[in-house]
Amino acid sequence: MKFCLKLKHRIHRRRPACCQYRLPPCASRIPATLARAAVIFIVTVTAGTAAAGGVTVNTIRHHQHDTHTRVVLVMTGQATVTTTKGRAATTLALADSALSPRAQRQSRSEKFPRAISVSPQRGRTVTVTLDMNALRKYKLLTLTNPDRLVVDLYYLPSPAPPPPPQFRVVIDPGHGGKDPGAVGRNGTKEKTVVLQVAKMLRDVIQKRLKARVFLTRSRDTFLNLKKRVRFAEKNEADLFISIHANSHSMRSIRGVEIYYFGKASDPRSLAVAARENGMPLKDDDPPWQYIIADKLHDQKIEASRNFAWTIRETLIPALRKNYAVKDHGVKTAPFHVLRSTSMPGILAEIGFISNPAEEKHLRNTTFQKKLAEGIYQSIRRCTQSSEAPCLQVTEAGNGP
Ligand SMILES: [Zn+2]
Repeated sequence: MKFCLKLKHRIHRRRPACCQYRLPPCASRIPATLARAAVIFIVTVTAGTAAAGGVTVNTIRHHQHDTHTRVVLVMTGQATVTTTKGRAATTLALADSALSPRAQRQSRSEKFPRAISVSPQRGRTVTVTLDMNALRKYKLLTLTNPDRLVVDLYYLPSPAPPPPPQFRVVIDPGHGGKDPGAVGRNGTKEKTVVLQVAKMLRDVIQKRLKARVFLTRSRDTFLNLKKRVRFAEKNEADLFISIHANSHSMRSIRGVEIYYFGKASDPRSLAVAARENGMPLKDDDPPWQYIIADKLHDQKIEASRNFAWTIRETLIPALRKNYAVKDHGVKTAPFHVLRSTSMPGILAEIGFISNPAEEKHLRNTTFQKKLAEGIYQSIRRCTQSSEAPCLQVTEAGNGP
């Protein structure tokens, strides 16, 4: 069997004369369906006359080489091969041919090379189909004694797997613009210091974690609580961190509190939530009682609780290396931004601005960096735990 690949475009115009082999008329050799399928062009080659009684493909071998995969059809004689090229597939039709039972088993084997299939068709035809979406090119070769059709497959490089989705954090510096938040005795405004800490936290996360970080506000602008919630939802956050500074009528009160959403732990937690919500809020307000009963939110609250406790474990020691910080622990309270967001979240009260010593600390860049470092360490621990990370990338469509 030999191929005359020079025929490609000339075969229909000057059928017999262009090739040293005597070809039967095209119409008799190419089934109508194949002729219609030849959208691009048809290559027809023949390598002599089929043996009497047709040709049998006895066995199909395949070998992996450095640059290509070779598939060899070992046959009992020569066959006429019609090549039909399409955008997605190229088909080699072996006329008056059949597959032996052994060759059929081989072609169906799981170990058979990909992007090629060999199958018997009606009317004693064997087709070899090449998936051109997976192949860069292929080469045909015919050998004799015994008669063989060789197909060399050159695969396209496998597409790289898509990168894993990045963890997304929304940091929410409280207040801003016309709302200064709590104000210290020396005029320090909560809105200013929490923005500075939020930016430091953003920078350290972006530098050291493969995570995307968004700030609800990056300037001294007013943003109501609903817009903060919408911002977190729009950016499909996996974690929401709201940063505030605390205030108390007794100036001696100082320390750090970490909150997650829930019924107020104590009357003071409720007062803190009411102040940060900018509205009086009753402990038994029905809406958030309803949300607590919701199973989806149960999972969110569980993750929020784990994260809140992790922050406490990383933040307090980080601060205590250089500062005498009182640990008020982890508490629950019905904060609006924690109630209305669908992802795990916490609200950190990073110090009492009403306490003169802490007001001074909160203005201090070194203290602010320690705060950012302590919170960052909790995110790192919660997202990269080799055992059971308490925070994970939320799958699309997992929201409420
Ligand atoms: Zn606040």
